Amino acid sequence: MIDIFAKHAALRTAYEGLTAVSPRNPFEVVIERPLSATVGLIEGRETLLFGTNNYLGLSQSTRAVEAAVETARTMGVGTTGSRIANGTFGLHQRLEKRLASFFGRKHCMVFSTGYQANLGTISALVNKDDVLLLDADSHASIYDGAKLSGAQVIRFRHNDPVDLEKRLARLKDHPGAKLIIAEGIYSMTGNVAPLDKFVDIKTRHGAYLMADEAHSFGVLGENGRGVAEMQGCEDGIDFIVGTFSKSLGTVGGYCITDHDGVDLMRLCSRPYMFTASLPPEIIAATLAALDDMEARPELRVKLQENAARLHAGLKAAGLQTGEHVSPVVAVTLENIPQAVGFWNALLENGVYVNLSLPPATPDNRPLLRCSVMAAHSAEEIDKATAVFKAVAEHFHA
Ligand code: PMP
Repeated sequence: MIDIFAKHAALRTAYEGLTAVSPRNPFEVVIERPLSATVGLIEGRETLLFGTNNYLGLSQSTRAVEAAVETARTMGVGTTGSRIANGTFGLHQRLEKRLASFFGRKHCMVFSTGYQANLGTISALVNKDDVLLLDADSHASIYDGAKLSGAQVIRFRHNDPVDLEKRLARLKDHPGAKLIIAEGIYSMTGNVAPLDKFVDIKTRHGAYLMADEAHSFGVLGENGRGVAEMQGCEDGIDFIVGTFSKSLGTVGGYCITDHDGVDLMRLCSRPYMFTASLPPEIIAATLAALDDMEARPELRVKLQENAARLHAGLKAAGLQTGEHVSPVVAVTLENIPQAVGFWNALLENGVYVNLSLPPATPDNRPLLRCSVMAAHSAEEIDKATAVFKAVAEHFHA
């Protein structure tokens, strides 16, 4: 009998190597319970949360919590069906209309997760006759959507308009559709994409452009519409994909567009059709979080201040951070044992961040990925920075 797990041998070796040098399994850290948006109970200790993507702190929004409780009481806790069968409630349509109008666009499709939004949008838009041009640092959900689509995949250098244009020029006579995909803020590094330059290129080369604003929705732009709003190039984005699981603090994803062809996407996007729709209490909480986000633009101002404070603090502590100041601040370390030791020491000293390891990171280097929130106080940020500094001295990082 062939060992069905033999294919995992390399992964097992890497996993065992990692757990051997780590006093605790980094994949089994449990937030026993959040005590607030910024503090959670981990290993019985009150721990500062600097790795949650909860940028606006809205996972703890009173409005959202109350909306969820009230809706669960009146409608139950699940839809038990697909969007194209029994799984569309009035609430799903309300959220789609609300999001389309928030972006000033005609159409919105809501998916059960952000991952599925990418899978379902990409696989429905392109097929084997088409070409996808993906930023090399794209999220796994974009690569998986590409695979599911069967389209030819061409990667261009991360955030590099010149490289993108060179590759598009070579496709001048290609008969299929060309779809460029970039993110707004990159999830691992916090880098911001030059979407305005990509718009210019896609227009000249007759391509479509999709932007995944998962980490920038609610975060950048005067109204929180993301990097495209901030850079003044929204009209050039054909498809905006995003998630509710970060700035809105719930779960779910969406695709927004002015292209009327999406009506049939509801009937051919498998990750949309062949899964249960979001439960009503999640939709109600998401609508309420959106109310909060729109009513409190000061959250975005505070978030930017906090991002600048964390970025400057870590830089001043001598750590290697990225150049872009955004709510994702990644500290790059030299090797995995150093990163694992550093991450454990942070946790033992009351600071939780994400340990991000290759191959999920660019350039095969480990990262301590921090995300800051509007809800963090200046004292919490300074405390986290001080812990980073002390640990860095210990590890000579
Ligand atoms: N796109 C990007 C850029 C992401 O970072 C993520 C989540 N890390 C997703 C999509 C998927 O979103 P979700 O977790 O809501 O499924």
